[in-house]
Amino acid sequence: MSVNEPPEIALNDFVRQWAEIRTDALAAFERVGESGWYVLGQGVLRLEEALARRWGLPFAVGTGNGLDAIEIALRAAGLAPGDRVLTTPLSAFATSLAIVRAGGVPVFVDVDDRGLLDLDAVRAVLASDPEIRFLVPVHLFGRPIDLDALEELRRSFGLTVVEDCAQSIGARWNGRPTGTVGIAAATSFYPTKNLGTLGDGGGVLTHDAGLAERARSLRHYGQVETYRHVRMGLNSRLDEVQAAVLADALLPRLDAWTERRRETASRYLAEIRNVHLRLPVEPEGSDPCWHLFPILVRGTERRSLVEHLRRAGIASGCHYPTLIPDQPAWNGTARCLVARPLPRAAAFVRDEISLPIHPFLRPDEVSAVVHACNCWEPS
Ligand SMILES: *Cc1c(COP(=O)(O)O)cnc(C)c1O
Repeated sequence: MSVNEPPEIALNDFVRQWAEIRTDALAAFERVGESGWYVLGQGVLRLEEALARRWGLPFAVGTGNGLDAIEIALRAAGLAPGDRVLTTPLSAFATSLAIVRAGGVPVFVDVDDRGLLDLDAVRAVLASDPEIRFLVPVHLFGRPIDLDALEELRRSFGLTVVEDCAQSIGARWNGRPTGTVGIAAATSFYPTKNLGTLGDGGGVLTHDAGLAERARSLRHYGQVETYRHVRMGLNSRLDEVQAAVLADALLPRLDAWTERRRETASRYLAEIRNVHLRLPVEPEGSDPCWHLFPILVRGTERRSLVEHLRRAGIASGCHYPTLIPDQPAWNGTARCLVARPLPRAAAFVRDEISLPIHPFLRPDEVSAVVHACNCWEPS
């Protein structure tokens, strides 16, 4: 392989995905074309029903993307301008951006050893500042936060919780799906996500009928009926083409794809043997959907490992290279607060690399990743 060729084992493989979904996706597109109805029609309703049923929650509201889904869920849950929202510094920037766009002020709390929001630290912050009423946890990399602890925290402090499930569709804690502790869950159908469509999309899921109604209105200019606007909404409609592809070509395959991710994770966990690499160890009760497979390596050696993998034709990722509060966007334009020092999140940012774990990896490719990891030595 020459230096400029892309790695053969990629982080995502949309070409293989297309080969698998092509017939169903084309048929879905044809049905939408023939229906003559392209935005907020029967297809979106059908997807919302299927998604809600699958998630085990009564209501789903399609949105234009995951960022909007979080903003809409927070606003529909009653976030008022200036309200502080506890969240993680280690996530997609969208998690915090959505809080800011909803009018909130993100308050960053450190993560635990898994890279997930540290609920003990959250408890300590709440104990010293009980006026904070909102929490946005992220089930990062498709690894569920301890939902029992989250539930307990929500009850004892009367918190309004919106769970960021953009990476965690299909993940469970003691059999319970992520997104079912909070008043709402927000998810994303961005192509790289576990339920990724051929464009943008997202959704709000909830057990609260009133919240679902407000979310429906917010995504559509704040209308409650045509030309009657009761709140300042967004245009964040999921279109019929994406909804049809999701409902007919993608959602029916999600369980099988998640199973393949889990098989790859099991192989990595069983077969990667290298004292210089720390693998993601899951606690009892956790059943991740493995959106990503993060491993940790000493930060000073990370570049050497990335290069080693690349020479073996293997792509790797870095999630994430910068803590959210360290992004330049905060300068002057928006306010965020840091509740504690963030040493563990900073260590993650320094040490993490993600191995390929998409559902279209072949067994020999998984073996190649294992082999490359096992024969790497720090320089
Ligand atoms: C992708 C992602 C989002 C944003 O979703 P978009 O559809 O890209 O707007 C939010 N939070 C997390 C954790 C994500 O991974």
